[in-house]
Amino acid sequence: MKGLRRVRSPSWRAGQVALVYASIAALWIGFSDALVEAWVDDPQALTRVQMVKGWLFVAVTAGVLFVSLQRLLAADSRLLARFESQRRELRELSQFREGIIDNASIWINVIDPHARVVVWNKAAEQISGYRREDVLGTTRIWELLYPDPDYRDFITRTAAEIIADGVEVTEFETFIRTKGGESRSIAWNSRRFFGDDGEIVGSVAIGRDITDRKQAEAALRAREQQLANLMANMPGMAYRCVNDPEWTMEFVSSGCLELTGYPPEALVNNREIGYASLVHPDDRERLWDQTQAAVREGRPYAHEYRLRTRSEEEIWVWEQGRAVADSGGRVLEGIIMNITDRKNLEQELSSLARCDPLTGLANRREFYKLLVDELERAQRYDRPLALLWLDLDDFKQVNDRLGHLAGDEVLRRLAHLLADSVRTADRVARIGGEEFVVLLPEMGLEEASETAERLRRLVGETRFELDGGDAVSTTVSVGVAVYPVHGASVDDLAGAADQAMYDAKRAGRDRVRQSGEALQGA
Ligand code: GH3
Ligand code: MG
Ligand code: MG
Repeated sequence: MKGLRRVRSPSWRAGQVALVYASIAALWIGFSDALVEAWVDDPQALTRVQMVKGWLFVAVTAGVLFVSLQRLLAADSRLLARFESQRRELRELSQFREGIIDNASIWINVIDPHARVVVWNKAAEQISGYRREDVLGTTRIWELLYPDPDYRDFITRTAAEIIADGVEVTEFETFIRTKGGESRSIAWNSRRFFGDDGEIVGSVAIGRDITDRKQAEAALRAREQQLANLMANMPGMAYRCVNDPEWTMEFVSSGCLELTGYPPEALVNNREIGYASLVHPDDRERLWDQTQAAVREGRPYAHEYRLRTRSEEEIWVWEQGRAVADSGGRVLEGIIMNITDRKNLEQELSSLARCDPLTGLANRREFYKLLVDELERAQRYDRPLALLWLDLDDFKQVNDRLGHLAGDEVLRRLAHLLADSVRTADRVARIGGEEFVVLLPEMGLEEASETAERLRRLVGETRFELDGGDAVSTTVSVGVAVYPVHGASVDDLAGAADQAMYDAKRAGRDRVRQSGEALQGA
């Protein structure tokens, strides 16, 4: 709309028009009369001309009057029509607005400067339980919604502040008591508004019922707390990581510190160190390959591998996890536990199963396993393999003279002596009380007999100084058997060596005998 012109009063305008009309008419009459009287002398003709002039004046004025009135009335009726349509639009608009307010799913209420309710929509009725006829035009609602006087005082003061100071409130949470006696949390957005003349006419409050959300939040917090407690008390560490070569951690539980020596925040996003760097270099590739294979096949994975902790300690861990659903294999979740104790126990058990506890040498069982392997290798590569069977001479006497513990000590010293006197590829085992064997890969009969002789002499020449101060000398009888000369199977070869040792005993002890060698030199 253009700027409003100053509108004069209708009488003023009508008077103006009448004055203009009277002036033009007077001018016209005066001027035309003078002109006609100057030109026409004949009185009869003058009368006729005057008459014509009069009719002409009437006709012109009627024409002008018609045109002006027609335009005026047409403008009026257009104005009227516009006015009518604007009134209709306004009515529709306000119905629409009331409809929206009334049917909005959020609580809308308006209060006047005296804290009386003037608008109370359906959602307000539904949430509070109070109908609009109960509350409209009164201040009763405050007592109903906020029965506690102190709390109510606080709320009404806040509402009054909004009206007085124009404070705008957002997400202001209050607890209301509904008509049904229930307590509900409402988050309010509220502001005052003004009338056309700039005076405050009230405040509008929009409330959202956030009770369910609050309850869900509280439940979620409780669950998170439970989960955190669970994780904190869980042995080992839970993690969520990116499936990348660094195993970039997105989350690790507090057990991280005990497991790795690093606090969780040091590992998250590789801030201080990437998890992959903690994995033993020899285990990294296997860990990666096994994990990727499991992720591809959509199954969980489980590994055992070594970690190096912050204090450079090497520990064994067991890990189980799987790709997070819908992550396309990008994110992994699982747990990692320290199994070092179990691994040590396993190793201890396996070494117990293989070693003789007194001397630390391979035991009988392990010796036969070694013999099977070495014989197979010798056969495959067509190489010789020698076996020495040793039995201490009159060892019972050592026990009888110095006691069983001293006998044990001699056996331990002898074991070390033998182990230190052969090549690294050779293996010494204790297969019975004071019976030992030496396995000599790639060794033929002649060289084996020489080795047997060397060992026999060494044992005979050694004085075993015992802790108690005694010194013991002993001798040994040795039997020699060689693959393929004396046997091609484990039993044949072992039997041949054992038999050769007995031959040496029978021949008088402290000597070496080859398998099948005739009894001689007793
Ligand atoms: P020889 O072999 O020369 O015929 O006489 P020996 O006295 O050595 O007799 P034999 O080999 O038959 O007996 C083995 C003896 O070795 C019996 C036992 O007193 C002793 N012995 C066996 N095992 C152990 C052991 O673990 N510790 C000790 N201290 N002595 C053992
Ligand atoms: Mg014996
Ligand atoms: Mg003996």
